[in-house]
Amino acid sequence: MRPVYMDNHSTTPLDPRVLEAMMPWLTTRFGNAASRSHPYGWEAEEAVEAARSHVARLVGAASAKEIVFTSGATESDNLAIKGAVEARLVASKSGAHVITSKTEHKAVLDTCKHLARQGVRLTLLDVDEEGRVDPDDVARAITSETVLVSIMLANNEVGTIQPIAEIGAVARERGVLFHCDAAQGLARVPFDVDAMRVDLASVSAHKMYGPKGVGALYVRRRSPRVSLIAQIDGGGHERGMRSGTLNVPAIVGLGEAARIACEEREHDHAHASRLRDRLRERLFGELEGVVLNGPEPPERHPGNLNVSFPYVESEALMIALKEEVAVSSMPIARST
Ligand SMILES: *Cc1c(COP(=O)(O)O)cnc(C)c1O
Repeated sequence: MRPVYMDNHSTTPLDPRVLEAMMPWLTTRFGNAASRSHPYGWEAEEAVEAARSHVARLVGAASAKEIVFTSGATESDNLAIKGAVEARLVASKSGAHVITSKTEHKAVLDTCKHLARQGVRLTLLDVDEEGRVDPDDVARAITSETVLVSIMLANNEVGTIQPIAEIGAVARERGVLFHCDAAQGLARVPFDVDAMRVDLASVSAHKMYGPKGVGALYVRRRSPRVSLIAQIDGGGHERGMRSGTLNVPAIVGLGEAARIACEEREHDHAHASRLRDRLRERLFGELEGVVLNGPEPPERHPGNLNVSFPYVESEALMIALKEEVAVSSMPIARST
């Protein structure tokens, strides 16, 4: 018997419907989506464009043209943050400033730290005891040099769902770009780039029952039109924002995962919440002194439960349980 899988923030299994949608593109339909001269290319391009529409619908984009395919949320975060900052530095002589929070994923934090080493000013906001970013802190941190605010949709450790609409309103009012790493929660909780005034949003397929190694970046094209400097140059694919031959089977898989998430988001929210609450009730009912880390629902990702047991070290507990359950623990906070 393999352990029960309870580590879905790290990756999710492939939905069989996604695999089925991908199969033809891994076998007989192998064309290059950029080949304009024959049906192998045409059918691949058509499949990519259908996937683009599904992803656009999932994030609430006004147009499928606002979706850029990437290798995953890590690349999307890099393209969004470095691309926006570089575009500003090219356009104006003033400095650049980025605002994010201390509990972002490494793909955001390390990207911001990379820019900071090159002279970009960086503000790392604190979060409250439940992991929440205060929109007023965002407002206070904005200066005339601020290019972008980057705050995630849902935290991958304690499951905190951030007040994205409130932060989006602050950013829009002050004329700064708002990037949201939506890798966690996109298939579970409401997300809409227009309603929430998000200008850039990172998506990862393997966090929502799609394949690994593929993702997308939503890039707003109207009010405001976001300009980015490409981080991978080459043949000018993806409107010049991300060159490289498109991974058609993976993109089709991402599209199918997005289509399913659109259809089943509400049902899956309720189902995951029920399972999570049952586990929580059993743990808290049968053991003493269990501590819940992070917020109560509805501000918690429906699939997230993060608990501490008194006098028990998480590493030791995980080693003891590794035959039965696959879980993960929060890294011990350390200053970098
Ligand atoms: C998993 C994850 C990423 C990285 O996504 P990849 O597609 O694996 O590169 C980025 N941000 C968050 C919040 C994640 O959970």
